[in-house]
Amino acid sequence: MAQALCDGCGLPASPEHIALRIRRIELATRFRPIHINALFLAEAPPERLEDYFYYPARNRAERGRLSRALFSELMTGLQIAAAEVEGDEPFLAEFQRRGFFLSDCLECPVADIVPGLREGAAKANSHELAHRYGAIILKRIELSYKPKHIVLLSTRTRHLIPLLQRAGWGGRLLLYHGLPLHFPHPDNPGAQAQFRAGLSEIVTRAAWPTRTT
Ligand SMILES: [Zn+2]
Repeated sequence: MAQALCDGCGLPASPEHIALRIRRIELATRFRPIHINALFLAEAPPERLEDYFYYPARNRAERGRLSRALFSELMTGLQIAAAEVEGDEPFLAEFQRRGFFLSDCLECPVADIVPGLREGAAKANSHELAHRYGAIILKRIELSYKPKHIVLLSTRTRHLIPLLQRAGWGGRLLLYHGLPLHFPHPDNPGAQAQFRAGLSEIVTRAAWPTRTT
């Protein structure tokens, strides 16, 4: 029997792949603000649901290292604080309340779309992915998200910069020294430092409220 096509990546996919995509959409929808002040664009969702940004982990230790690094760095940089004993949900609720939304350029994990991407040839492939999916992302931004600001998370999204600029989003795109923020990889202190400095500078430039009122 032929496999069903996934509506997210358009590829033949297992029932698990399709079910996970729906679960991610449900979680993101739950925490989506009505008006998006800032859209944080990451490359692609992680493979495990527990690592998805909008997964309301009861304990942050449920997240893998990369997921935990991004979540914690983003919340800290945006000065979102909550009682951590209650898990990640109050952080996500406050993230939503401030008009922040995080979305992935690709709806499905990269490893499912381009097997081997993580292992090598990442540069060429992420460029190719931007070409393949750039128009879809742009449409989602223009028709659905309509954000006041766009922040690119991870240098893998840099190919979107000229695309967004050509489409007239350059003024709303908050870059740091002309670049996306580096993914704050826990094993890469340089990337972490760039992420922290960049996010702090962007928060100041955009004059986002940093306190709960
Ligand atoms: Zn898919």
